[in-house]
Amino acid sequence: MTAKILDGRTVASRLWRDLSDRIADLHERTGATPRLAIVRLDARGPSAVYAASVWRAARSVGVDAFEIAPPEGVALSDLAARIGALNRDPSIAGIVIAQPVPSHLDAAVVVELIDPAKDVDGATPLNAGRIARGERTFVPATALAVMTILRSYGIPIAGKRAVVVGRSAVVGRPAAALLLAADATVQICHRRTRNLARETRRAEILVVGAGVPHLIRAEMVNRSAVVIDCGINTTPNGIVGDVDYAAVRPVVGAITPVPGGVGPVTTMMLLQQTVDAAERAESSDEPALDRYALPERHEANSGSRETEPS
Ligand code: NAD
Repeated sequence: MTAKILDGRTVASRLWRDLSDRIADLHERTGATPRLAIVRLDARGPSAVYAASVWRAARSVGVDAFEIAPPEGVALSDLAARIGALNRDPSIAGIVIAQPVPSHLDAAVVVELIDPAKDVDGATPLNAGRIARGERTFVPATALAVMTILRSYGIPIAGKRAVVVGRSAVVGRPAAALLLAADATVQICHRRTRNLARETRRAEILVVGAGVPHLIRAEMVNRSAVVIDCGINTTPNGIVGDVDYAAVRPVVGAITPVPGGVGPVTTMMLLQQTVDAAERAESSDEPALDRYALPERHEANSGSRETEPS
């Protein structure tokens, strides 16, 4: 058996068309164009590459993205004033901080400067708390990409045993929360997990975001598993995922490649949430936020505690 390939580029192109239509429609109705501020704190390195790639993707779909680049070594108080101005500007729908931030700044403190209503990458503690409670909100783009890929390929989630490897605030934790909100039975593994293989073999849906090249090998997966690899690791052999794709692909049910899996969908998720924010700002109707991410059902909102899936 060879796995079904969950092709992120195909999913991303469909999302691109949907977003482009929504942006045109918004413009026709209101004259507004979604604007995204990308705060770049480093002129070189991975955060500059990230900022440039978001800017290009945004421009291509019709989001008016622009970079804010404070001087090198900017003080937190100065940065707070700059981000405060973005928060107050009604023409700006979304704000994203290009990570990693320089070492003189604390990333957790920097993201707290963003107004949660413009936090289109789900980075603020308020939005992280909402995600943990199963409430609708902006979510980290990579975690949302995981759910979007599963849903795009019609992969059932409710009742499935999902194992997430990694517990970072941007990948593992929110992915686990979204899977839980979609009624999977979720387990989170991390670097202190004993016998990782025993846990991952139990997964019907396996999501990996560990940052360790080829951490997941063929003997660590269930034969019918759906494997979503969030890893992006630069090696002498090029970019590879956290899953040994060549070895695992023949022994599972479905798998995302790296590159070409979660990555391209992640960028579209950031832009999708920017468009959601712009639409919400222009309308008093039900926010568009629940379109992909959250939870067909919101147990935390309903006031009920644990309820059996229907
Ligand atoms: P991180 O270093 O913040 O977190 C890694 C997590 O993996 C930790 O919780 C750690 O406990 C766990 N882990 C590490 N080694 C492990 C091991 N041997 N066994 C079990 N668990 C282990 O990293 P991150 O920011 O979450 O990124 C994870 C990966 O996802 C990286 O490859 C990163 O490049 C990638 N990433 C991809 C996207 C995307 O758009 N696809 C976005 C963000 C991050």
